[in-house]
Amino acid sequence: MSATEPQVQPEERRIKAIAVSRGIGIGPAVFLPEFDLHSQERSLAPNAIEAELDRLRHGVKRAQVNLNNIANIGSLLPTDSISGIFDTHLLILESFAAKVEGRIKTACINAEWAIDAVLKEALERQGTHTSDHIREKQVDLKDVATGILDELRNVDRLEFPAGSVIIAREIRPSSVMEIGRTAPAAIVSRRGGWTSHSSILARELGIPMVTGADVSVINTGDIVIANGYSGEIIVRPGAMTLADVQSTKSKEKSQQLARRARRESSSSVQTEIVVRVNVESTLAYEAARNVGALGIGLFRSESLVAKSGKLPTEEQQFAGYAAIAAAVGETGVNIRTFDIGSDTTVGETAVERNPALGLRSIRLSLTDPNILITQLRAILRANEHGNISVVIPMVNGVSEVHRFREILNETATSMASEGFSPQMPRIGAMIEVPSAVLTAREIAAEVDFICLGTNDLVQYLLAVDRDNERVAEWYQTLHPAVLRAIREVVAAGVEAGIPVTACGEMAGSPFYIPLLIGLGIREFSMSGGSVGTARHLISGIAIADAESVTREALDGKTASEIDALLRRLYTKHWPDLFPNGFLASQR
Ligand code: PEP
Ligand code: MG
Repeated sequence: MSATEPQVQPEERRIKAIAVSRGIGIGPAVFLPEFDLHSQERSLAPNAIEAELDRLRHGVKRAQVNLNNIANIGSLLPTDSISGIFDTHLLILESFAAKVEGRIKTACINAEWAIDAVLKEALERQGTHTSDHIREKQVDLKDVATGILDELRNVDRLEFPAGSVIIAREIRPSSVMEIGRTAPAAIVSRRGGWTSHSSILARELGIPMVTGADVSVINTGDIVIANGYSGEIIVRPGAMTLADVQSTKSKEKSQQLARRARRESSSSVQTEIVVRVNVESTLAYEAARNVGALGIGLFRSESLVAKSGKLPTEEQQFAGYAAIAAAVGETGVNIRTFDIGSDTTVGETAVERNPALGLRSIRLSLTDPNILITQLRAILRANEHGNISVVIPMVNGVSEVHRFREILNETATSMASEGFSPQMPRIGAMIEVPSAVLTAREIAAEVDFICLGTNDLVQYLLAVDRDNERVAEWYQTLHPAVLRAIREVVAAGVEAGIPVTACGEMAGSPFYIPLLIGLGIREFSMSGGSVGTARHLISGIAIADAESVTREALDGKTASEIDALLRRLYTKHWPDLFPNGFLASQR
């Protein structure tokens, strides 16, 4: 092209995607290499097997060190999501490596080829018409396999120039952690949803992230704006767009600083609203307590299953529950009995055709009461000071509460005959399926408190997979049916004189907190990373305002109408409570 020919400016492109981690990132696009699982078969002579096993064990050990390092970094953060995810990877690594060793010995093949075979088998067993829970497990498995392969091949760690927007088709959790070290501007991926492990990690690390994006229009080096509030991606922005977004970003920064310095005391509702935390380790609890969490509203006990790879014994559970009870003291802990069978499986649990609707949660505990009895024994023993409550997951009607209580009473009686004098815990029910909402009054009359599991409530009420980005548009937290269901459950709690704690991602999101307060929620339980912001937000609003905002918002007939109403009303009542641009964009 001659110097006089006009330059053709590549066109600005806007892509609609899903915001999964807040913030706006601007930078040049860098593509993440795909999972490289490709390998070559090599047959081994019998006398070469031992050396190959050594090579594998060496690679596994280094992969283990990498995972431990990441888990340790995670344990320093105020939530245990990171260490929890990588603790699970460590367990997968252990059982995966054992299978690969077996395969090298029986098939006399090289380690890479054995990894390939074992991985393929595992993925095939899980099926191709998978739910997103299974797909998430497959990503974890591939992540672990790639971790060993990278060590066997001495692959270098990922390095990117700081400030890049990282583009990927599918991003693995360990890549998010590695990318985190290079201070990226944002992450854009094709696959994954709000509750995918990689999205959770991006939120924990404060990296803006957008998923469900068609990345085919992006080229390496293109300037990309990823908006983690609205989900919009702008590729090759024009000068005007760039200036606009940059000014929004700098306003956001100064507002953040102003908010931090803002009043702590106002005519706040902070004294009337309790903020608890969802955690499973004492370290994570201590970090959350330091930013104001009052006790543990949800202890997902299945995290103990993941740590041992099989069901933990009574002693192992006792040790875990006693430690957490000691850490929380009088503020208390709500231990949810194993919510397993959907994304956490035990031993050789049969593959479910429809895991979300299968033999899971309380159904599994009641089908195999020994699982429940062992767990209840451990809880009763750890409840020496009466600060442990038990939550029943996925209750679908009052009969499950009755059966649960029978087993609890029988367990306590049999322990008394052994010389224990167990303190009975308070019993709570997770309300997260439609039948429980419709029978909330009957359930509330039989329990001491209710936990509103909003993640599953939205999923089951709207029949939309909570982790499937293809139907993310239908996963509408603000659907009128969801809000009416919450109102019903709160009314049932008020009538029975018991607290209703909102759990799940909705409870920790600033956009929904005023609405939930307006709907009558007075207790929240959220991930550790959300506690500080939530308390700050709560300190700035008055209950009467939240109620009037919610009343008006409930006039909306669709999720988008309610969303628009909330934005308008929040802007009117609390213009300075939300980050700049937050109310003008999508959640
Ligand atoms: C929920 O469903 O909202 C919840 C808190 O539980 P989990 O996310 O573990 O299903
Ligand atoms: Mg749930």
